[in-house]
Amino acid sequence: MGGAALEQRVERAAEAALAKQRYVSAVDVLVGLGWLAPTHLDEWRQGRVPYLERVVQASLPKLSTAMRVFRRWAGRRGLVPSETGYVARTRDRRPLRFSVSGASEIERAYRTHWVSPELSVAKRERLAERQGRPPDLVVISPLKDWTCTTCSGTGDLLIMQDVGPVCLRCAALDHLVFLPSGDAGLTRRAHRTSELSAVVVRFSRSRKRYERQGLLVESAALAQAEQSRPGTDERAVGVHAPARGDPRATPGRPS
Ligand SMILES: [Zn+2]
Repeated sequence: MGGAALEQRVERAAEAALAKQRYVSAVDVLVGLGWLAPTHLDEWRQGRVPYLERVVQASLPKLSTAMRVFRRWAGRRGLVPSETGYVARTRDRRPLRFSVSGASEIERAYRTHWVSPELSVAKRERLAERQGRPPDLVVISPLKDWTCTTCSGTGDLLIMQDVGPVCLRCAALDHLVFLPSGDAGLTRRAHRTSELSAVVVRFSRSRKRYERQGLLVESAALAQAEQSRPGTDERAVGVHAPARGDPRATPGRPS
């Protein structure tokens, strides 16, 4: 691919992300270029990939050219840089690493989001606050048999740590109860009340992506959320669906 063609593709990807969300990140550009599969992005965020460049489908020289084009474009467009924290959705919430080298300049360039100057200062601050918030922990409902790296046991759910997959008991998450997706109001209330929570996902082979199964929350938070059912919370009216099955059951193993 010629340099001019690459430049055009980078700018197109960046413009598309900016139009959609009013800011654009290096990660958005990589996804837009088709160099980073959403599944690989999910796995990196889950702490299952040591650094992002490992799963980017482009050579390092091409990648650094693209990043240079992106920064130049952002400067030309008058976008406002905003450094954003990226932490893993793991129990230790460690900072995510982007580059092979881990060099601080490169890491910072990846972390910088470019925000539309058309957003008011207040909106930009809200956006930065929202993006800087640590993401929900993610717990995986595995498709295959697996072994806990810490206790050599297994279980219906696992969470990735830097040592590898760990069971919920070893991760000190086994006091949480499972609330399956389907009742948006109940989920929102339980999520708000629970100090510790984790999103449960499972990989769909047919759709080739991780799909949300439900939420792990503290049992007290779930009880409280169940007590404040709609009627008392009018925002939940209309989204309330009948509870399916026992919300405390863990998701079944796939057959
Ligand atoms: Zn264990």
